[in-house]
Amino acid sequence: MLDLVLPPVCVDCGAGLDMDPVGRLLCGNCLGGLCRDVHLPTCPGCGLPRDPRLPKTARCWECQRRKFRFDQVVALGVYRGPLRQAAIRMKQFHEAALVAAVGDLLAERLDEVLGSDLPQWIVPIPKFWVKRIVRGANTAEVLAESVSRRWGRPAIVHALRCRKSTRKQSLLGWRERQRNLAGALQLVRRHGFNKAHVLIVDDIMTTGATANEAARVLRRAGAGRITVAVVARATRGRELPFLGNDTLAAAEAMPLDRDGDVPGRFPEE
Ligand SMILES: [Zn+2]
Ligand SMILES: [Zn+2]
Repeated sequence: MLDLVLPPVCVDCGAGLDMDPVGRLLCGNCLGGLCRDVHLPTCPGCGLPRDPRLPKTARCWECQRRKFRFDQVVALGVYRGPLRQAAIRMKQFHEAALVAAVGDLLAERLDEVLGSDLPQWIVPIPKFWVKRIVRGANTAEVLAESVSRRWGRPAIVHALRCRKSTRKQSLLGWRERQRNLAGALQLVRRHGFNKAHVLIVDDIMTTGATANEAARVLRRAGAGRITVAVVARATRGRELPFLGNDTLAAAEAMPLDRDGDVPGRFPEE
């Protein structure tokens, strides 16, 4: 009923929308800001920005060294600017409309990258139950549902369970994160993954340790190819030369903590 009375507004900035022909509920300004990095050259293995002169399929040295258990990362963009602000806001329970709108953008990006080779199953990264109560909705779940709606393929929102409350990860490096996460994720029910292509969904990726642990569990449960989809890929500063030379971008490439208030080396995944 309310829709008939109130004109639609942008779910990001609140500006009035004259019309919404594609059903996105984002104004042109916000849409441009959120999608600013969509076509930045990135490593297909980990989603980090990289030298545009390298061949499209070449993986960065870090991928070769770490041997991630997932095959590919698709990100909407880098954790900076408007996308970073949106990613921080998306953690709040009352921002479901923004999460759904960004989820639609992520789904469009996945279509573009994956073509007809779409995943059979969609699995969001779970949150520990205490965090769920404090935070409300799990952002990853709402994102997974957006992708599921677009593809008409199932999102198994309770495929994985977070068994323990892990230490706050924002100050930990890759090895410490891996240790922190060991055994944290568990398969709830055996799904017939049967070598199928599985999509892992999360909001932010920093070192990739969380997605890696999820991929390990899913692989053991029979998943074949594993693609990871995230809204924002945090860089470690090393990628600055490939992010363009605007100073704002450089200042923001070193991200804050997930809450945006506690400075940390990397945001939480
Ligand atoms: Zn807007
Ligand atoms: Zn890489």
